[in-house]
Amino acid sequence: MFIRIKSAALRGIDVVTVEIEVDSTSGLPGFSLVGLPDNAVREARERVISAMRSCGFYGCSTRMTVNMSPADLRKEGASFDLGLAIGMLSATEQVEIMNIENYLFLGELSLDGRLRPVHGVLAVAANLARYSPETIFVVPYENFEEAACVETLKVIAPKTLDECLKRLQEPEMACCRYPECPPVSATQNKTADFSQVYGMATVKRALEISAAGAHNFLLVGSPGSGKTLCARCLPGILPTMRRNESLESTIIHSCAGMFGSCKGLMKSRPFRSPHHTATVASLVGGMKLRPGEASLAHNGVLFLDELPEFQRAALESLRQPLEEGVVRLNRASGSICFPANFVLGAAMNPCPCGYAMDNRRDCRCMPEAIKRYRTKVSGPLLDRIDLQVSVPSVPIDESRQGKIGESSDEIQKRVERACEIQEGRLKEKKIFRNGHQDGKTLKDILFWDNDAENFALKAAEKWRMSHRGYDRMLKVARTIADLRQSVRVERPDLAEAIQYRALETVWMD
Ligand SMILES: [Zn+2]
Repeated sequence: MFIRIKSAALRGIDVVTVEIEVDSTSGLPGFSLVGLPDNAVREARERVISAMRSCGFYGCSTRMTVNMSPADLRKEGASFDLGLAIGMLSATEQVEIMNIENYLFLGELSLDGRLRPVHGVLAVAANLARYSPETIFVVPYENFEEAACVETLKVIAPKTLDECLKRLQEPEMACCRYPECPPVSATQNKTADFSQVYGMATVKRALEISAAGAHNFLLVGSPGSGKTLCARCLPGILPTMRRNESLESTIIHSCAGMFGSCKGLMKSRPFRSPHHTATVASLVGGMKLRPGEASLAHNGVLFLDELPEFQRAALESLRQPLEEGVVRLNRASGSICFPANFVLGAAMNPCPCGYAMDNRRDCRCMPEAIKRYRTKVSGPLLDRIDLQVSVPSVPIDESRQGKIGESSDEIQKRVERACEIQEGRLKEKKIFRNGHQDGKTLKDILFWDNDAENFALKAAEKWRMSHRGYDRMLKVARTIADLRQSVRVERPDLAEAIQYRALETVWMD
């Protein structure tokens, strides 16, 4: 008997429907699997047959041919086990399932017939809800929460193969959610609060601008001056995620097998802080076609502490996603895109010993060593950093006497308002934050007069800004104007934005 079962595979975060065709004919018992399977899929035969036996069925007693299409797509992992088992049981007429074409199966089997969770369930669920909303999605119990994030989808989530077959044979059960939906509640990540940070007004201001307009930033200062603490406060002032952003980011985490850390659809923007030993593949992705840190930080912040300690190649690999908002990986099997629209944050010391900008301690580095250290951060990368801030080290007695700063909640309210203004201005666009606009859109949203424009052009000339640097400076000025809720970008906004590019000019000479 011939049976066709629907399952799905991931290419990056894109979902491809895979059809598992099982043909059972009389003859010598045998099993052949075709359709570009990898080792894990080829081993499925052993898992599936053991699982079938554990549930009281006989395994492979006929001549069985299994084909997975599309044939040119490499099938990876163990997520086809469940579909394969259902297909083999139906093809050998050991079970009969009505309307089998209405289901899509995903799940790994263990030898005793239990179902194990798989990656990327949310991506498949979102895809089904969009293109094939009538399909009933069958996933392992542990993936239920993930599939149930898409409210409109019909989901069945059994714990074992046996339970799965029972559910499928009760037609009235097949059309509702099983089990009943548990409440999914994502919690906001608790982070450090800006009220714990004494002084540092310029740094706080720069981070507020970064949060409001999605601008990249670099903090330069002596060890212990509070750069990292300030950066860790940043998640607390980021604007709340819009629904589509939340779904996108959660799907990326789901494909990386990290749905567990999201606890439902993500509510707070991701803040990723990889260690400086990170490789190119772990930053931009590619290992087993999984998303990297840059994609996990999509719609949030990628923070690189100790920037010059990162491998040069790893840093350079971020240039393309910083410009385009996606990571493109070229593989023999074709190219894959991962969304990677993140804000790059970084922190570093001004010199190898760390005290070059400190007026309370002497720097012992040779000028050559300082130069070498700083050139580890290349010009093109620095050019893409809009807010370059030196963090002054403040004497303890002075800083502790200062009054307690604003709390993160208060700052976030301003950020949120600035975001609403940006969103209102570009209603029809999915990407609305100033930092992500292209040059063409930028021209239409500045609303400046001749005086302001001349001022900006003169400054660009004086500071020898690149075209990119100039555009980026204008975007920052737009955000500064949004923070004070002004329609027009004016001279003081530009002056403040220009001052955030000062480091580049000093360093590159
Ligand atoms: Zn030094």
